[in-house]
Amino acid sequence: MRRSVGNKFIGRRFFKTIVMFPEYINQLFYLVGEAVVLLALLILILSIIVSMLVLYSFKTGNFFAARYMLLGIVLLENVITTLFWITRVDDSIVDDVGVRLRNYINNKEFLNTPCAMRFIFMPQCVRSTECPAKLTPEGIKCVNCGRCNVGDAQKYAESLGYHFFIVPGSSFIKRIIKKYRPRAIVGVGCHMEIKEGLDLCHRHGIPARGVLLLKAGCVATTLDWEQFYEAIKEKEPHA
Ligand code: SF4
Repeated sequence: MRRSVGNKFIGRRFFKTIVMFPEYINQLFYLVGEAVVLLALLILILSIIVSMLVLYSFKTGNFFAARYMLLGIVLLENVITTLFWITRVDDSIVDDVGVRLRNYINNKEFLNTPCAMRFIFMPQCVRSTECPAKLTPEGIKCVNCGRCNVGDAQKYAESLGYHFFIVPGSSFIKRIIKKYRPRAIVGVGCHMEIKEGLDLCHRHGIPARGVLLLKAGCVATTLDWEQFYEAIKEKEPHA
């Protein structure tokens, strides 16, 4: 009994020691609290603005203040996707617009690069499940057997001067970039692969274009081949 009274007494003293801060500390806490609330409010307002810009770009295909918008998407992605989720709007739109924005920003530099210095990275999952191609140190070597569209795409791309690679795994692209130092890149993949690939190219200072798969997955994925041909067919202006 005496012990519990003693504990209470010690507890009260301890509590008093904790809560009795000097006035300037209380002021500091108050200011920090205010700053946090203001920051949260600012993040929310900016996220709402960027979300509206994303929707506008998705609907019209136009970009307003592209670089700032991309910065906003990169920094506020989690809040923006949450806002989309709350308002029941498909949040894959954010990724889609993010890829289109990066393509748009890279466009001029990409087009100024001769086709002979552009590389294409095609994911191995778009091949036929009965693909007879063999794995080599330079990727999977298509023999244009006609079972899927990759063979024709490679033929067309190489006729323009592109270097065409079928990617067997994630570390392959880094290895090829290090080995050949391409001046521009077209990458095909799912949202995540394209995002990571475009970031990788940005870090290496390589203008890149991303082409999203229509149906992602590990095998038998699909691609809008027209969109792919559109992405690669523009040559440099003086060619
Ligand atoms: S066309 Fe090329 S990639 Fe497609 S299944 Fe044949 S060998 Fe494989």
